[in-house]
Amino acid sequence: MRRERLGASDDFRARQLLARDMLRGDLEGEALERYVEQSVLTTTVQKAVAWSQGNSIYPMTFGLACCAIEMMSIVGARVDVARFGWGAFSASPRQADLLILSGRVSVKMAPVVRRIYDQMLEPRWAISMGACCSSMGVFNNYALVPSDKFLPIDVHVPGCPPRPEALMHGILRLRDKIQGHSPDGWRERYDAVGTEEILPPAADGGSPEQEASGA
Ligand code: SF4
Repeated sequence: MRRERLGASDDFRARQLLARDMLRGDLEGEALERYVEQSVLTTTVQKAVAWSQGNSIYPMTFGLACCAIEMMSIVGARVDVARFGWGAFSASPRQADLLILSGRVSVKMAPVVRRIYDQMLEPRWAISMGACCSSMGVFNNYALVPSDKFLPIDVHVPGCPPRPEALMHGILRLRDKIQGHSPDGWRERYDAVGTEEILPPAADGGSPEQEASGA
């Protein structure tokens, strides 16, 4: 095995000299313009804040059911959520800004979950993880309640249980949303409102559903 230098040392030296000239005020004309183009980044405060918020989320240490086991594994080496700055699970809602609802929520538990959410500081987000949490899943049971009924949910992660990679996908979608460059959700793509897709009126005056079904 051969030891090699990291990067070209000449390049490093040239940059050092350039920085020195810049500090002395010796850089002018084209050289100055090139230096500024390479070194200066312009943005808005809102974008910078959103960028840092999206990369420094503190999820709440909180699990509800079997989905929680999958959620716990996102901090392991395989998925490693810490790569995105989301690795420090907080034990207190006062230092958390994300609630991952990992499992089914019972009617009895919903007010407790809501209280935890209310104790978190703004801005805060919530991910509904698993079929049970979003739609009561496999249970046909009066004791459960879907998360949308008592909490504003930002991202739903489907599955039973969703794999850690699926939760990771949900986390990255939430990060996109926080940073303001969210790819259009299905509502925008299909011109939908709430949970309903709005179909354009049929050309012959019939109902859009009839046209869609070819009747
Ligand atoms: S979605 Fe599946 S894994 Fe998650 S809480 Fe429900 S039954 Fe358990």
